[in-house]
Amino acid sequence: MIAFINVNKTYANGTTALNNINVSIEQGEFVAVIGLSGAGKSTLIRCINRMHDITDGQLLVDGVDVAKLKGKQIRRFRRRIGMIFQSFNLVTRATVINNVLVSLVPDLPMWRRVTGIFSSNQKLKALEALEKVGILDKAFIRVDQLSGGQQQRVALARTLAQSPDIILADEPIASLDPVTAKLVMDDFKRINQEMNISVIMNIHHVEIALEYADRIIGIRQGEVVFDGRAAEVTKDV
Ligand code: ADP
Ligand code: ADP
Repeated sequence: MIAFINVNKTYANGTTALNNINVSIEQGEFVAVIGLSGAGKSTLIRCINRMHDITDGQLLVDGVDVAKLKGKQIRRFRRRIGMIFQSFNLVTRATVINNVLVSLVPDLPMWRRVTGIFSSNQKLKALEALEKVGILDKAFIRVDQLSGGQQQRVALARTLAQSPDIILADEPIASLDPVTAKLVMDDFKRINQEMNISVIMNIHHVEIALEYADRIIGIRQGEVVFDGRAAEVTKDV
């Protein structure tokens, strides 16, 4: 459902971040993208939702040529693709439920988002998403009262509430301690398995990638140097 065909990406300053990428990812796969810092992992996943534009080649998502989407189409397209960041990207002074609700009403004017006029149906959807990641009891607490792991779960719930087909995660556990990191990875795995949502995750903890992902894509200097099952990964990848 996601296909990179001879994709290159060169930034405005001349840095080539992706060099002839050919990869296809089926619905429901859990893919970990591994590689050293600067290898091109983040660029690779951020091209999928058009946070970055590819320079040439073709990138298809469900047959749609991503480069051809314009304005409103891009926004609609992104509704199907959840994005999780290392730094959570939450509104820390707002409550947990309001952070989730914001994703359900992206087109509302800011005053309505701030004043929090939401339908009971929207609230129900937000609460359901919080329940899926085990933090329903935190719904009415401010985000800045939560631990890092709990905040990443809020980010996951915010994404789940928009019923995505794909979740892109850019180093989602990099700022978490090892125990919390595994709990968050358990959530990703459960969401992937129970809801058949594709997960494409950049991760520099190779052991964790091997433990959780079905498929590993190794990137070095913008090129795919490994693409296979976790069990097939050798030391030099
Ligand atoms: P990774 O996620 O594996 O650390 P990135 O995709 O962030 O790698 O970066 C790949 C290469 O592209 C690196 O050389 C990086 O410095 C460069 N790069 C990333 N973002 C930009 C940008 N906005 N402008 C110019 N170069 C960039
Ligand atoms: P981080 O440093 O946490 O990796 P960045 O600050 O580089 O994240 O990226 C955050 C940017 O991504 C913001 O401009 C934000 O508006 C944007 N963004 C957030 N969610 C999405 C999404 N689902 N699709 C595209 N862009 C998003």
